[in-house]
Amino acid sequence: MSLLVVGSVAFDAIETPFGKTDKIIGGAATFISIASSLFSTKVKLVGVVGGDFPKADIQMLQTKGVDTEGLQIKENEKSFFWSGRYHNDMNSRDTLVTELNVLADFDPIIPASYQDVQFVMLGNLAPAIQRIVLERLDHKPKLVVMDTMNFWMDIALDDLKETLKLVDVLSINDEEARQLSGEYSLVKAAAVIKAMGPKTLIIKKGEHGALLFGNDGSEEKIFFAPALPLADVFDPTGAGDTFAGGFIGYLAAHNDTSFSSMRKAIIYGSALASFTVEAFGTERLQSLTKVELDARVGQFAELVKF
Ligand code: AMP
Repeated sequence: MSLLVVGSVAFDAIETPFGKTDKIIGGAATFISIASSLFSTKVKLVGVVGGDFPKADIQMLQTKGVDTEGLQIKENEKSFFWSGRYHNDMNSRDTLVTELNVLADFDPIIPASYQDVQFVMLGNLAPAIQRIVLERLDHKPKLVVMDTMNFWMDIALDDLKETLKLVDVLSINDEEARQLSGEYSLVKAAAVIKAMGPKTLIIKKGEHGALLFGNDGSEEKIFFAPALPLADVFDPTGAGDTFAGGFIGYLAAHNDTSFSSMRKAIIYGSALASFTVEAFGTERLQSLTKVELDARVGQFAELVKF
């Protein structure tokens, strides 16, 4: 099944206790596209970059089978830029800079050849733009997954709530779930957020794994996916996007949105994210093979088998 991915395609500058990068490529849609392209899914990207974005990196996406017809290039403008600094525990970070640049007036144009998509991944982006993407599809997709962050809760909460009404799955971290719901207990937070629209909610807990709140038929269900205990976490940037890309990539490849399929998809997402954090930016993800991914999924199975 084909998958539409929309989100930031960006330059990032990252500081961790292990080092610092100059501008490297990043962005939610970049991580999501590379991750989901590992599955037998046709990935169709919608985004915008400036003339400063390296053409070689667009070609890298194309080599991975990502359709970039919907990636607009504004030759005389600058790409979105984000900079962050991680704390010593690597679980929390401060955003140092967010320069929207080309994203400030992004008009997401959906090429006609994308109108057959059945799965949609709304990566991190202004919620009003995420909504426009859905409005511009001439049919209702089989599954819409949305990611967002505290930045949009702070400055565009009403828009965010409108978009939430249109999505099937929301993926956010524990801190964001608490901010959005006003509840500390994640079980209570999940109930509040599900009432806002999405029938399924994923709450990511960094190195402590992720919770999936969904429904199996009429029964409410919770599933827990661990994160692989890693000796070294080098750079967590993009872990959440990689996770989301793996999750929806798996579902689209199997054309199955049942709760049991989502349980497997969340393990694939977690396994993929465990690679992303092993190097700066998209470096490790770019070299990753499906064979390596399958082996790591086996490690996850071993980790929780009793
Ligand atoms: P993650 O670590 O998975 O939360 O995502 C990190 C990616 O999100 C980075 O590559 C950034 O370029 C991108 N990002 C950060 N802030 C924003 C924002 N406000 N809108 C869109 N993308 C963003």
